[in-house]
Parts: sequence; structure tokens; C-alpha cells
Amino acid sequence: MRYLAVALTFMLLVAPAARAQSKTELSDKFRQLEEILPTPNEYRTASGAPGHRYWQQRADYTIDVELDDVNQRLIGKETITYYNQSPDTLNYLWLQLDQNIFEQKSDANLTRTAPELERVPFTTLDSMLAAATFEGGQKITSVRDARNNPLKYTIVKTMLRIDLPTPLAPGQNVQFAVDWNYNINDARKIRARSGYEFFSQDGNYLYEIAHWFPRMAAYNDVSGWQHKQFLGSGEFTLEFGNYRVRITAPNDHIVASTGVLQNPNEVLTAQQRARLEQAKTAREPFLIVTPAEAEANEKNKPTGKKTWVFHADNVRDFAFASSRKFIWDAQQHNVEGNRVMAMSYYPKEGNPLWERYSTHAIIHTLNVYSRYSFAYPYPIAISVNGPVGGMEYPMICFNGPRPEPDGTYTAGTKYGLISVVIHEVGHNYFPMIVNSDERQWTWMDEGLNTFLQYLSEAEWEDNYPSRRGEPQNITEYMMSQAQVPIMTNSESLLQFGNNAYAKPATALNILRETILGRELFDFSFREYSRRWKFKRPMPADFFRTMEDASGVDLDWFWRGWFYTTDHTDIAIEGIRLFTLDTANPDVDKAARLRDREAAPQTLSEQRNKPLPKRVDQFPSLRDFYNTYDALVVTPQDREEYQRFLAALTERERELLQTGMNFYVVDLKNIGGLVMPVIFEIEYMDGTKEEMRIPAEIWRYDTSDASKMIMAKKEIRSIMLDPHLETADTDLTNNSFPRRPTKSRFQLFKEQRQLNPMQQLERKPVLTPTTRPTAPPVPPPTPTPGN
Ligand SMILES: [Zn+2]
Repeated sequence: MRYLAVALTFMLLVAPAARAQSKTELSDKFRQLEEILPTPNEYRTASGAPGHRYWQQRADYTIDVELDDVNQRLIGKETITYYNQSPDTLNYLWLQLDQNIFEQKSDANLTRTAPELERVPFTTLDSMLAAATFEGGQKITSVRDARNNPLKYTIVKTMLRIDLPTPLAPGQNVQFAVDWNYNINDARKIRARSGYEFFSQDGNYLYEIAHWFPRMAAYNDVSGWQHKQFLGSGEFTLEFGNYRVRITAPNDHIVASTGVLQNPNEVLTAQQRARLEQAKTAREPFLIVTPAEAEANEKNKPTGKKTWVFHADNVRDFAFASSRKFIWDAQQHNVEGNRVMAMSYYPKEGNPLWERYSTHAIIHTLNVYSRYSFAYPYPIAISVNGPVGGMEYPMICFNGPRPEPDGTYTAGTKYGLISVVIHEVGHNYFPMIVNSDERQWTWMDEGLNTFLQYLSEAEWEDNYPSRRGEPQNITEYMMSQAQVPIMTNSESLLQFGNNAYAKPATALNILRETILGRELFDFSFREYSRRWKFKRPMPADFFRTMEDASGVDLDWFWRGWFYTTDHTDIAIEGIRLFTLDTANPDVDKAARLRDREAAPQTLSEQRNKPLPKRVDQFPSLRDFYNTYDALVVTPQDREEYQRFLAALTERERELLQTGMNFYVVDLKNIGGLVMPVIFEIEYMDGTKEEMRIPAEIWRYDTSDASKMIMAKKEIRSIMLDPHLETADTDLTNNSFPRRPTKSRFQLFKEQRQLNPMQQLERKPVLTPTTRPTAPPVPPPTPTPGN
């Protein structure tokens, strides 16, 4: 009986916490996701794979385009063959006219909210004025069918609807032609994902051309036509198809493009062709156009035009770059059996950084990304330096970082360049091949890509200064107020870079390192990549595949990290120690006696002690209870103990002697995000032990949980999240007992500012070369943002 009583007290202390919340507000963070995710169907399965009747449309393009270097204009005509592979009959087709974002009255311009005008750099004012006068927008001059008859069309801001004279039935295709032209934006002033840069020192232009032709909008089983207007943030999703593109440019330009060059004999010199051959076996990037040759080209005046012909299979877009300033290097690399020509194009202003890092970074990216997803399938991978900070297209990307004019550079510029090349080349995988819908979900390409960028950076050099991916780097954002869940449309995101890049990348890193482990995660992530290669996945397909392949219920993780703005902040509230009574009065009573003696005396008790007592004056007042001590062992106690022992079995007697310490660690979830609990337990003898508890510890009560630790040894301290792997935003409540937080401060001498009268007294010390200075203009920051 006595033993039972001991056990019961112990239970009662622990049990109520688990039940306390059952009648308060229901907040089940482990509720299954099925009720939110779309119902699986024959196009998309419940396991996250394409269904047995999965379909997608296809669009092939033949394009003829001329780059007008005198007026910075583009003039093009295209023939599109559109294949209706859907089960639906289409009465009209939608195309994207992204250039219309530059029209004065575009929604993007009209809805742009006011900038901070208190302090404006000259460059910003210059940009504002340029944007207000630029005559941008795509001028459509002709839309005709295959028989050259005009087709009825309607322009709706950045979208173009073509009405079909006869409906396009499932399985049919239709061919039509569009002519257009537009003025190219000065990308140094009007920031965009393409445009030109003018070099005033030598009078030359460098063009990065994208979003340049009317492109078929996506039509799919989830959204129908994806024709959400382009406001600038939500990029695009398009259909795969084959491209044959003829680019006419001044005959002294070098053109870099999506696709494989079809007419090298017509546009390259014999020497350049020979060098390209050598690049196939080169062990380092090999120069096709040398810096000296590029500098000589800068002084050229073109004597005519040249037409470069490129062909690209199974791409969802097409972009190119053109300039007479280009230095060009190349190195062929074997990616799991696929021979890929990695190439970089840059003006002399990009050196010495570009010749050293760009092509190396391309090849590094292909190696790492192919390992984590699928082998790079295209024959070309290009990185171009120009005015665009960072932007990706199939086989080609534009990257901004450059050294100072004197050739020196900061660590930030160097790593900014390597990172942006990795990031933009990496976008070939997500979303150029795994064709997620960027206009709807930025995280599906930027988040996944930033995550793989982080893994690639870790393999570039030790202690690479990665900006995004480490849990401890995201905590400030996770605490911030102005934020929305990751599952928010691209155009409505707040804190774009943190929301769509850093948070999903960090979440995936935590999923890999802490929740699934590298092996399970990598298997599942590769499965997702391969299932959806050259197809169009939706968020549910990612969530479902990661669970399907890992065999781990991650609904709580997607809920917390993708559908809420909760953050991790778990605190150790306290540790309670329970020790088992032995039932032996000689042991137990002695222990209680020690406890009593160790208990502190109150202030009054201490002060009352010396007071004369009445029982001392009148000893007759003393009786049995003045000497009785309940903690003194009596013969009756011992007899009772013997009777108790006699009634126990052998096993019960052993249990009584375990000598275990029962610690109960009380935890509080302050941030709201349910996450695994990782303890580092330090014992009195100095040894340490790690305990990893899955997030399901929070499934009954998401704000309070208690964990029991049984140990023979005594615990000195416990620390939560010792390896900083959960993005816990407040580390001060992670250890028990609490530890002082360490910081440093500096002493400085206050400098007295002169008042205006004192300033007037002082003679001006202007020398002839001193000019009034503008407010500090921040250097154009590379935005591995796109
Ligand atoms: Zn990006």
C-alpha cells in the first residue's frame, strides 16, 4: 500500500498538465492537411506524383528578331504552333505581353506606392524621371493565322487574347503569326529583368534581352489559363516547346543565347571555332574572345549585320545577350554523361572577378544540383555579366556583380558574384525544368533553389558566407511583425526575400538536418525533382511527395512553416526532481531529516531564536510532544517495513532499490511553431548526453509539455537546441539553470558638434578640387534576388 501511495503522488503531479487544455480554444497544429489541399484526381495523385492522365500544353516557336543598336529597339516576328493536349476545347488563346509593364499607364506603374522622399540619392531621382518618360510597351503590328488572314485579338494590359475562328479541339494544334516591336529599357535606370546598359567611356551598349516576344500563357488543370496580370514580382510560368530563333545584330557583336548555335561558320571566325573545339577538352575556362580582342572590338563601328541562328529543344522560354564588348570563355563539362558547354560572357569591367569565378561557378552548380535532383539535361549553360542584378532563363542567366573600376573588390562582391551565379544557373532546375508557377507561388522556385544554393555554397569552400539557409540567420525575420505566410500569392508577399527565399530555404534545411535526416530528405527531394522534371507541379505535389517518399507525416511542418507566421521559441520553464522512497524507515526518514536541516530558516525564525521561552521558565509545561520527532525511526516503523517487504515479490523488491532520479522538464512553447525538442543534458560528473524528441511531443497541448528523464546520475544542467538547428528566436530561455547572456560594449569619447554660429566663425577650407557632395549613394547591390 505504501509503495502504491508513493507512485500515485508522482503520477498526479504530472498528469493534469496534459489534460488542462482540452476544453479551451482548439488549436490542433497536427491536424491533417487533406482538408486544405486540393482533392487528388487522375491528373495529380494523392501521393504527389503526376496522375495517369496528367497533361500539359506545348508551344513551338520560330522567331526572327532584329536588334537595333542605334535606337535600342527590338523588332520581331514569330510563328507559334500551339498544341492543345488538354481534354478541353479552347475558343481563344492567351499570350503574355510582359513588356507592357513599361507602359506609362500599366498597373505596375499606377499601383506603385510612394517612395520615401525625405532623402533621395541622385540615381533614384534619375530612375524616377526615366521611368516617367520611357516609351515602353510591346507594339503589336500584326496577328495572322496560317493562311495569312488577320485574327481578331484583344490586348488586356499585359495579356493578349486571340479569338480562334474555329474552336481548338483536344488533340489539335493551331499555327499563327505575331509581329511586334518595342523600345528596350535602360536597365541601369529602369530596373527590370532585362534591358540594356550604356558604357559612356567607350560609347557601347550591352543588351540582356528577355520577356521579349509574345509568349503563350500557361493553360493547366489547376488554374485554367494562368493570365494573372504581370505586376512585376510574380514572374511567369510557360509551356515547354522547341525554339528556332534567328537573331540579327550588328556584325561586330557577340551573341550569347538559349540553345545551340546552328551556323557557327557564318558568325564566328575560324580562330573562335578552333578555340571552341579546344574548350571541349579544357581543364579550366578557355578564352574564345580574349580581353585584348574584346577591347579592340569596343573601338569598332559595325559595317553591316549578322544573323545568329539558335535552336533549343524542350525549353519553356528563350533569352539572349548581345554586345561588341563581350569577353567570352568556355569549358565543356561532363554532367553524368551529358556534355555541357559552360560559358561566360562579360565586358572588361567584370574582370578580374569574372574570368576567375563565373564559369567555375556554373560547373560547380551543375555538379551539385544534378546530384540532389537530376542530371542537367541541356547542352549549354551560360552566365552573362550586364546591368541585370540576377535573373534566370533556360540555359542562360544574367548576373550583375562587378569589381571596382580599379579592379579591387570587397568580399561581399566576390561572394555575391559566386552566389548569384550558383543561384541563377540553379534556376535551370527550378523553375525552368521543374516548371512551377512563379506567378502564383514564388517559394516553389526561389525557396527550393535558395536551399540548393546553400548546399552548393557549402561545397565551394569551408565557412562560405551563405546569406540564407542557416536557422540562426532567419530568427529576426521570424519575429518581425509585417509578414505573411509563405503560402501567399507572389504579388502580395511582404518582405519578399525573407518570405520566398530565406524562410522556405531554411525550412527545408531544418527538414533535412533535424526532422528527416539527410538520407530520407535527399531521397524524397530527388523523387520530387524527378517526378516533376519537365512538368508543372503545384504546392500539394511537393508536400505530398516529401511525405510519400519519406514515410513521415509532415503535415504539422507544412502547416507551421508554410501556412502560418508562427516562430520557434521553446523555453525550459523548470526542472522538477522526483526520487523514490525506499520504504525503509532508516533510509527515508534520514533523508527527510537531512532535507529539514537543509531548509532555510525564515528571518523571523532566526530573530525569535534568542527570545526567552516560557517552557524553559516552566519545565512542567513540557510533555511528550516536546521531545517527539516524527522523523525518528521507531521499532514499529521497522516492524511495519519488514511486513511490507515480506508481502513483495522478488521483482518488486528490486524496483524499490533502483535508486533512479526522475527529472521532469517543464517546457513552454512561446513562439507557437511546434518543433522537435533537442536537449543537451549535462550530469554532475561532467558527462553529456543528447536527447532528440520529435515535434509530436506537442500533439496534446501545443503550448505546454513536460518530459521525464530517468537517470541514475544527477543532472547539473539542460540546454535546448545546443546546435542552433531549430531557428529558436530566444536563446536566453533555452538553458536551465539560466545562464548570463554574453555581450561586449565599447567606451567612446563624445565629440561636441559645432552649433551653426560656431560653424560660421570657422574659415571655409575648400580646396579647388572639393565639390559639394551628394548624399551617399549605395552601390548597385547584386540581387541574387531573382
Ligand atoms: Zn531566384
